[in-house]
Amino acid sequence: MYTTRSLFFRHLAPTSPSPLALEVVGAKGVFLIDATGKKYFDLISGISVSNLGHGRPEIIAAIKAQLDRHLHVMVYGEFIQHPQVRLAEALCKLLPASLDSVFFVNSGSEAVEGALKLAKRYTGRHEIVAFKNAYHGSSHGALSVMGDEKLKIRFRPLLPSVRFLEFNNTADLDKITRSTACVIIEPVQGEAGVIPAEKSFLEALREKCSDTGTLLIFDEIQTGLGRTGTLFAFENYGVVPDILLLAKALGGGMPLGAFIASKEIMSCLSHNPSLGHITTFGGHPVSCAAALAHLQVIRNEKIHEKVKVKSGVFSAIIGQSDKVSEIRSAGLLMAVQFESEDFAMKVIKRCFNKGVITDWFLFRPDALRIAPPLTITLEEAEIAATRIREAIDEQG
Ligand code: PMP
Repeated sequence: MYTTRSLFFRHLAPTSPSPLALEVVGAKGVFLIDATGKKYFDLISGISVSNLGHGRPEIIAAIKAQLDRHLHVMVYGEFIQHPQVRLAEALCKLLPASLDSVFFVNSGSEAVEGALKLAKRYTGRHEIVAFKNAYHGSSHGALSVMGDEKLKIRFRPLLPSVRFLEFNNTADLDKITRSTACVIIEPVQGEAGVIPAEKSFLEALREKCSDTGTLLIFDEIQTGLGRTGTLFAFENYGVVPDILLLAKALGGGMPLGAFIASKEIMSCLSHNPSLGHITTFGGHPVSCAAALAHLQVIRNEKIHEKVKVKSGVFSAIIGQSDKVSEIRSAGLLMAVQFESEDFAMKVIKRCFNKGVITDWFLFRPDALRIAPPLTITLEEAEIAATRIREAIDEQG
C-alpha cells in the first residue's frame, strides 16, 4: 500500500531535490493543518496568494454560486461572461483612468507574456529592458526578463534584445532609448528579498519612458491587492504604468492573472493579426467570481489599511534578536536578513518545527520570507513573530 506521501514522491514531477512536503489536509484563516492534525501558521500565503487567509466565507460562497451557473463555456474574449465583466469593471474603477482595459489570463507568467507581446505590437519595437535580480515567472518570455543568470542559463537561447539595468540606479536609465519597446519592473522587487524602488527612481523611469515612447510595465503580481499597505504598490509612488500586471492574490485563491492597459494600447491585440493573443481558460468564470468577492472584501473592510501596523509587530519582535542584520518590509512582504544562507535555512527549519511556515527568496536565500495573510490578527502576528524570534535565538 502506497501512502499519499510516497505517491507524491513517485508520481508528482519534482521542482527541487528536497521539497518541504508538508501534507496539507485543511486550511482555515492563517492556519494550515497537516495529516497528523498539527496546525501551522501560514506566514507565506502560498507565496503571496491568500491575502484574506484560507476558507474566507465570501469567496467560498461566490465560488459555489458560480459553480451552479456555469464553468468554462468559451475561449477568453468571445462570449460575454458576467463574472469577467463585473471583475474588470471593479478593477478599472479602482485604477487610474488610463488603465481601463483588462485582459484576463491564468497566471503571473502569462500576464508577463501578454504584456511583452502587447508592448512589441504597440510600439513596433523589440528591445526590452528589465532589471537585475528581477523575477517575472518561469515561461520562456518571463525567463528572458529574469535578472539572474543562474536560473536561466540552461534554457538559453531565450528572447533576444533584452537589456538589464541596475535597480534603483537612475544613471542607468539612459540606456532606455527610442528603440526600447518596454521596461518591465517590480515596484518592490520580491525575489530579490524585498527591495522597494526609490520614489525618485520610479519617477525618473516614468519620465524616460514617456520621453522615448517606451511602455512602462509594472509587475505587481506579488505586491498587488493590498500586500504593501495600499491596494497597489504604485500608489505609494504616484507613478502610473502603461501596463499593470496582476496575478497571485487576484484570484482569491483561484488561478487568475491579468494585464491591464488603456483601451487604445490594448486594442492592437485584436487586429493585424486578429487574435494576436488568445487563451482558452484565461478569466475562468469561477476564478473571476472568487476574485470579485475577494476584491469586495478587501475594499469594504479596508484590509490594506491595517497592513503596516501588523508588519510593525513582526519587525518589533523579530528585530529584538541580535542575529538579525536587517528587516526589509513593504507592508506584509518582509525579509529578515541573516549573515548566511546556512543560518537562514536552519531558522526556517526550526520555525517549521515550531508550527510556523516561512520561506526564503529565490535570489536571497540568506533571508527569511514573511508574507502572511493580510487578515492575520495582531495577537496571531505576535505569537508567530515570537516563535520566529525564539527559533533565531535558539539557532545561536
Ligand atoms: N512576477 C512576480 C513578481 C512574481 O513574484 C511571480 C511569482 N512568484 C511571477 C511574476 C510569476 O507568476 P506565476 O508563478 O503565477 O507564473
